[in-house]
Order: sequence, then structure tokens, then C-alpha cells
Amino acid sequence: MAQRQFQTEVNQLLHLIIHSLYSNREIFLRELVSNASDALDKLKYLTVADEAYKSISFEPRIDIVFDKDAKTLSVSDNGIGMNEADLVESLGTIARSGTRAFLEKLGADAKKDSNLIGQFGVGFYSAFMVAEKIEVTSRKAGEDATFVWSSNGQDGYDVERVQTGGRDTQGTTVLLRLNEEGLEYANRWSIEDIIKRYSNHVAFPIYLTYDENQYDDKGNVKSSKKKTDKVNSGAALWRRAKSELTESDYHEFYKQIGHDNDDPLFYIHTKAEGTLEYTTLFYIPKKAPLDLYNVDYKPGVKLYVKRVFITDDDKELMPTYLRFVRGVIDSEDLPLNVSREILQQNKVLINIKNASVKKLLGEFKALADKALSGGDEAKETWETFISQFNRPLKEGLYQDYANRDALQELVRFKSTAVEGWTGLANYVSRMKGDQKNIYYITGGDENTLRASPLLEAYRAKDIEVLIMNDEIDEIVIPSLYSYRQEIPGADGKTESRSWELKAVNRAGADEELGAQKDRAAEKEIRPVIEKIKKALGDRVKEVKLSRRLHDSPSCIVADENDPTIQMAQMLRAMGQTEMPDVKPILEVNGDHPIVAGLKNTEDGERIADVAGVLLDQALLVEGIKLKDPADFVKRLNRLLAN
Ligand code: ADP
Ligand code: MG
Repeated sequence: MAQRQFQTEVNQLLHLIIHSLYSNREIFLRELVSNASDALDKLKYLTVADEAYKSISFEPRIDIVFDKDAKTLSVSDNGIGMNEADLVESLGTIARSGTRAFLEKLGADAKKDSNLIGQFGVGFYSAFMVAEKIEVTSRKAGEDATFVWSSNGQDGYDVERVQTGGRDTQGTTVLLRLNEEGLEYANRWSIEDIIKRYSNHVAFPIYLTYDENQYDDKGNVKSSKKKTDKVNSGAALWRRAKSELTESDYHEFYKQIGHDNDDPLFYIHTKAEGTLEYTTLFYIPKKAPLDLYNVDYKPGVKLYVKRVFITDDDKELMPTYLRFVRGVIDSEDLPLNVSREILQQNKVLINIKNASVKKLLGEFKALADKALSGGDEAKETWETFISQFNRPLKEGLYQDYANRDALQELVRFKSTAVEGWTGLANYVSRMKGDQKNIYYITGGDENTLRASPLLEAYRAKDIEVLIMNDEIDEIVIPSLYSYRQEIPGADGKTESRSWELKAVNRAGADEELGAQKDRAAEKEIRPVIEKIKKALGDRVKEVKLSRRLHDSPSCIVADENDPTIQMAQMLRAMGQTEMPDVKPILEVNGDHPIVAGLKNTEDGERIADVAGVLLDQALLVEGIKLKDPADFVKRLNRLLAN
């Protein structure tokens, strides 16, 4: 019976790992090597940055040893190591709250892809896919005691101090007692193959120890001796010249640092040699990281100073809206002992970060342009990119004012004019005549929006309307307010043009839809409007004759400075209980028989029924839940019966 129990989340995770992960088991080795590499990085950093560790001299290395007969495989490093408390903390609990999201995702994913595991910062536990028992022997740098952590992954774990022996140096050995499925990894070729694929560019040498057999004439093993070979290339890949690197070098490195099995969508390798000297290598994944929408997401960019690893857990290295970017920043100008706490205020780093963001956004734009003019491949890359990252880029519109001009060229929307995604520049280029504004409609469901009566008059006038059904659009677009283009003029000057963005479900967005009804007709319908207004009382802010309706009898719009009802509902759902009740403006179509029919009646109940139904159907068609559906049904039935 084990002495210690895992944290509940760890138990849940282990249960899943042991019972339902079966694709890509090999990634356990990538994860263990990645942890060994992190441990070496941490110690290397301390030996240059911290007086207390300067006396430690060590040749960083990772060793893999297997024994087919004993059914074991071990990964060792001489890095930072763990003491008793570290072992309990690191291998008994999960620090990052993203685990729940991981468990949910895994629970829902029929494929149960173990590849996901590294992305959530729980890579160590993946070794239980291939091991029935794991023993971690570790000694922390600067301390004397060696501890062994052991577990079968099912009934808790033990941590014991090794009384005699112990490790000669600081560091960690993770020994796997392989299970049935794990046995296939206890051979030289599969280990070499996995290392080449996922860990070739780990910046420390990885050695593999294996038996080299001597054969006699008959092909029988005569003798065998232990050999140890270095199996990875082991240098900081991003420091090498682009011309020396192949596409597959870049892809291998991505798989290692991105904890991904897939190739990246594309990468950007930059060497800056001006006032600041630094190298960046950024990758864009093909698929959005699974923790993209977790507050507690795992940052994807690592910071190095002169090839010494500093941190991979600093969210400030990238703006949050670019949190899907993976890669490395390596600076020549930062001091090695830069404290992680004050990194955010460091001028050098701020400059590198700003330049990196500009570079990335520029590359995204180039990709978009290439998709417009180029072949199918460019189109496909862009489509993949935007399908995955449109939403975080939209966040950028309200987070990163300095790069707004670049970001507004990247975000994409659905539209009444074209299939698929379109951008603001595309919209403007399609505008006819002297259209002054960009029109859009927001709401939760694309099909509901496309069917909205609010679009009728725009359709009749052949004016394009952007369909904004992404939740985030409601927040982003008001902050965007207008779209601006700088157009190069004849004499070297640039001309600036801008278009206001107008929601069709707001008062004031109808000015381009043609003249109001002629005065005589308006005068005739005025009493009807008054009747409806009186009947609806304070359910509406206003009742107006509509310019935007063609076929439908009524629609609702929000007053120019009010939130839309949909937005109010969303904010309420997000926990804003203080939201005042927003009242819609009801617009009616004077030409519609239901409305026109009210001219000749003074029957109070009938007017109330028609007015109620006009309002409620306008709400329904916008996908808004009625406060009193029974009242609507009662009125409707009364009208149908008469
Ligand atoms: P992550 O590496 O994303 O933090 P893991 O589940 O892979 O998540 O590892 C959990 C933690 O265990 C690490 O953060 C580290 O503190 C500790 N750890 C694992 N392996 C080693 C090792 N070889 N040396 C030192 N610490 C380690
Ligand atoms: Mg790890």
C-alpha cells in the first residue's frame, strides 16, 4: 500500500492514460526527454545566474538505457534534480488548472490521442501508457540526499530516501518497468527513430546505450558488448544559418518544442543584427492549441539568452492574442542573470517583443495576400490559418491598439455577398457607387442572421452585409468603430479613407436605404404607429416606420448607444447581473397588410394583439427568447380565429 495519494485530478488523468490512451504511445519518450532537457536548462541557468550554483561544473547530458530481458527503459539527466518536496509537488499534483480542460477534451475525443498530453503540461504521466511501474531516482543540485519516487499509477505513490548508494551527481533517472505495450520500445532502432523524430534538436547530447552483438559464421551471437552512441544532433537549431537547415529540420524542431505530432503550418526564422542582436524562430501550428481559451494556458514561446534557457513560462513574451505561436526568442543583449520577475519591464525584451509581433503580423498579411493571388496551396494554408486563429486575432483588435491597422487587415467574417470568409478590404473593394458605411449584423447563429428581416432592404439595394456570428464580434466591432485605409496618392502622399462600421440592427443604419416614405403615405400611417405604441407601452423604447423592411411586417433594432438585446443577454450570461433591461425600437412596415390593416380598426383588444404579435415575432426571428411565450400564443390564436 502506497503511503501517499495523488491529487484527485492526477488520479483522473492517470485513469484515462492507463485505460484509454492508445494512439501515439511513443510520445512518452519525447515527454521524458523534454523534462530532462528542461532540468538541464534550469541548472545551466543557475550556474551562470546564481552565485550559489557557480561552483557546480557539469557536462549536461541525457542518457537512455534499456534492457529487453529485464523489461526496463530509463531516461537520465544530470540537471537540476528534485528533493522530496519537489517530487511530491511535481509528480503528485498538477499545478496548471488546464488539466480539467484536458480531461474534458480527452473524454469527448473519440480518438483519444495521447499527443494532446504534452500540450497540457502533464507529459510525465504519459509514461504510464507504457509502464506498469515507474521509479524516479533524483538528487537535487546542491543537496546530498537521493530520493526515490515510485508508483504503479493506480494506488498512489511512495517517496523514500535512499540510505546507501544514491546518485553520484545531481539529476534524475526515470526508470520505466515496461508493460506489454511498452516492450516494443526496448530496442535500439525504435528509440533512435523516436528521438530523431521528436527530440533531434534538443540542445543537449542524448546518448543511447545498447548491446552490440558479435556474430559467428553461423549467424549466432558470439559475444556482445555495451556501446553508447550519441543519437541526436544536439545543437541550438535556431542559431544555425537558414541555408544549412532543411524543411524537415525545422519540422522536427517544432514537434519537439510544440509537443505536436503534426508538422507546423509554417515557420518564420529571423536573425536581427542591428542595435539589437537576436534570433527568433516562430511556428504557427496547424491546429489551435487545446488550451487556447483557458485563462491558464501554457505559453508557447521560450526565452533564451546567448543560448542559455531562461524561461518557457512567461506569458509576457507574446501578447495574449498571439498565444498560439510556438517558438524561441534568443537574445544576445539581455544579461544572463536577468531576473524572471522583471523581464516584463526590460527595454531590450520589450523591443524584441514589439518587433516580433510586427514581423508575425506582417507574415500573416503576406500569407493572406498570397492566398488572394496565388495557387491552391497558399489558399489552403491561409484558410487553415484563419479557421484556427481568426478569433484570437480579433481579440488583438481591442488589446493591441498599436497594431490595429495590421490586425484589421487580417480578421475575417462571413458575408451576404460571398461564400466563405471575407476581409474588410475585400468588402470595401466590392462596394458600389458611393456607399459610405460598412454594414454588419451580429447574433449567435449564422442561419438566423442570414434570414433576418433586417437584411431585406439591404438585399433589395444590393448592399453587402457582414454576418458576425462569432460571440467575440459583439465586443470587437464596436471597439473597431471604423475601418481605415491608407492609399498611396500620385504625388507620394498617402490618402486616408475610412468607413464607419454600422450594425443593421441599430437605429441610424438605414440612412443609405433610400428616402423615407413620402409625406402623404407617412401621414396616413402615423395613427397606426401611435396605436401600436400605445398598446405596447413600456415594452418598447419607440415605434417607427421602417425603411429597411420589404417582406416582413416588423423588426426590432437597438437605439444607437444601447447594447443590442443579444449583447445584453450575452453579458448577463457571462455574469453581469447589473445589466439594465434594454428596450428595443420596433420598426413596422407600413406597406404590410398586417400593419396597414390597423388603419381601420379601433378595437382595443385587436390592436393590442396585433401589436404584441408584431413585437414578439420580430424578437423571435432574431433568436431572442420571449419573456412571456404564453401571452404570444394566446394573442396569435385569437388573431387566427378571427
Ligand atoms: P511540464 O514539463 O509541462 O511541467 P510534466 O508532467 O512533464 O509537465 O512534468 C511535471 C514536473 O515534474 C516538471 O515541471 C518538473 O518540475 C518535474 N520533472 C519532471 N521530470 C523531471 C526531471 N527529469 N528533472 C527535474 N524535474 C522534473
Ligand atoms: Mg514536461
